[in-house]
Amino acid sequence: MNTAKDDCFVVKGKLALPYQYFAGKTGSRFIISLRDEHKIRGLKCEKCGKVFVPPRSTCDICFENIADKWVDVANTGTVTGFTIIRYEEPHQPVKPPYVLGLVKLDGADTPIAHIVKGVALSKMAVGLKVKAVFAKKTTNSIMDIDHFQVVGDKPKFELGYSYEELEVGMSASFTKTISETDVYLFAGISGDFNPMHLNEEFAKLTPFGTRIAHGALPQSLIAPVLGMKLPGLGTVIPEITVKFRKPTYFGDTITAVGEVVEKIEKKKWVRMELRWTNQKDELVAEGSCLAIPPAAFLKK
Ligand SMILES: [Zn+2]
Repeated sequence: MNTAKDDCFVVKGKLALPYQYFAGKTGSRFIISLRDEHKIRGLKCEKCGKVFVPPRSTCDICFENIADKWVDVANTGTVTGFTIIRYEEPHQPVKPPYVLGLVKLDGADTPIAHIVKGVALSKMAVGLKVKAVFAKKTTNSIMDIDHFQVVGDKPKFELGYSYEELEVGMSASFTKTISETDVYLFAGISGDFNPMHLNEEFAKLTPFGTRIAHGALPQSLIAPVLGMKLPGLGTVIPEITVKFRKPTYFGDTITAVGEVVEKIEKKKWVRMELRWTNQKDELVAEGSCLAIPPAAFLKK
């Protein structure tokens, strides 16, 4: 069968389809409570005890008519499932990407589907606690709940990327201008008071002709990259190698870059290439390191 695009006869058109939707007695009552009282209500089967939100007039277990058995449930609940919407179409309430979650409200036994906000897409998870945020303006619809906001149980520390989240090609950088003060402070920290770093007259006698920073000072600028950005908080660096290519002069602006170049599956470590350049884009130093990313089980 020939399915080549060019051979197909395609007519593009549009159909307008006006319609009205009636929420019905049960749905209307539910929406009115949302709109007028900012209260989420469900229907409870007195036979089996199940509370349905969104409400339904017949219990799907006992087939009891429960149309008048209204109960209040909390505005808070737990995410029991979710999907991330990336496909864009004109009828969506918000612009993708966004999270469509199933939220089981406290006091309910069935989940309701709604938009979940307040968490990075990569950190979205089943079990997160959420709270309903009501819309400022009513639309007489389920969108009278604007969205569910992630609350509480937020991690005390935002740990960096786990091994699974890291990909070859990811990179991060940190930039700092090295001042005379930095060099003096570093001399104090390291105990290295070598006059080539501190005494201009002595430094004139060296091949550099002026004072230069300690090599380990620009090198240390990779620490905020590895420890705070990539992989980030919780990372351990068991090995780092550096080759110095050019001196760092006072006033130089150094950029330290780390890039993931290899994932070591067996150990769940990554290898990163490291580069230090100055404001003239000259290579100051280069090297590599092994990084142990924050363990996934720490990511609560
Ligand atoms: Zn029942």
